[in-house]
Amino acid sequence: MPEDVTTQAVDDRVVDPAETPEEQSFDIGLRPQSLAEYIGQEKIKGNLEIFMAAAKKRGEPIEHVLLYGPPGLGKTTLAHIIAKEMGVNIRVTSGPAIERSGDLAAILTNLEAGDILFIDEIHRLNKVIEEVLYPAMEDYALDIVIGKGPSARTLRLNLPKFTIIGATTKIGALSSPLRDRFGNTYHLDFYAADDIHQIIQRSAKILKTELNDEASQEIAKRARRTPRVANRLLKRVRDYAQVKKDGTIDQDIVHEALGLLEVDRLGLDAVDRRLLQAIIEKFGGGPVGLNTLAAVISEEVETIEDVYEPFLMQLGFLARTPRGRVATDLAYEHLGKKPAAGRQNGLGV
Ligand code: ADP
Repeated sequence: MPEDVTTQAVDDRVVDPAETPEEQSFDIGLRPQSLAEYIGQEKIKGNLEIFMAAAKKRGEPIEHVLLYGPPGLGKTTLAHIIAKEMGVNIRVTSGPAIERSGDLAAILTNLEAGDILFIDEIHRLNKVIEEVLYPAMEDYALDIVIGKGPSARTLRLNLPKFTIIGATTKIGALSSPLRDRFGNTYHLDFYAADDIHQIIQRSAKILKTELNDEASQEIAKRARRTPRVANRLLKRVRDYAQVKKDGTIDQDIVHEALGLLEVDRLGLDAVDRRLLQAIIEKFGGGPVGLNTLAAVISEEVETIEDVYEPFLMQLGFLARTPRGRVATDLAYEHLGKKPAAGRQNGLGV
């Protein structure tokens, strides 16, 4: 009997690239504090260096920056580094946290010249607030409406020159007027295997954990090319080694520890496999519509799109087609399944 792909519980995914509340407070020590410590993303670092140096030379704040890419790749870290390198304060908020235009006005009027306002999940700002943001970003001005009806007047408040750094996992969900107001847009991509390896070694040093080269390569292979996942796997392996062994980590320990967590050799966990299994077993490999797929595996459409799919597509296991999601032959192979003869998957393969 194939495992029932619809009923398994999904909780506490070790490879979920989204930040856990625990990580919010405890991972600060692992965060790189300068561009020099920030591993990988060389092109972005190169661009940022020039653009920050030029702004410093002119004695002006930097232009607004938009960072986009999947969760856990270092957008928040980069925003903090920019603030540090520019020697300015950073205020942190997020799209869903700003509910009323008054909230945004309060934040903006408290900024000092040169300050950075980091808005995470900026695609989730509501439209009314976006409208308040436009003049603030463009003219450093806040338009406040006083009174109601025919006697209403608009009062323009000048703001100090500041910088917004917006972060999003969904660039397509950002309205184009908002997108156009960012002078610089950077796309963070999944990391090269070697960068992840270096990140693991750096974190191990900070955590005072001994692990040999093969062990760190092995964790890197399963870390979904994502720094947050790499750090999390390292910590889980360290816990395992401390409890079960003498604390030094080798490749066997990594195999054992990550085997227990059901993270396979490519970094897929039970949820990823469940998603692919559902497409293969219930829909003949697809295409299947996103909403149907979400209902079958009891997940939110948004979570599937933002969290699971980017990495599965990156591996070439899943494709988005106009008719729906399709499991590729590579996915069949990884799960040890054979595609039915003459399978039409909408990909022409
Ligand atoms: P995002 O905002 O994109 O979700 P974060 O900036 O919170 O991601 O990064 C997640 C974690 O990964 C951070 O706590 C940091 O320790 C680590 N990290 C991210 N990028 C790098 C990097 N380039 N070098 C080293 N560590 C990194």
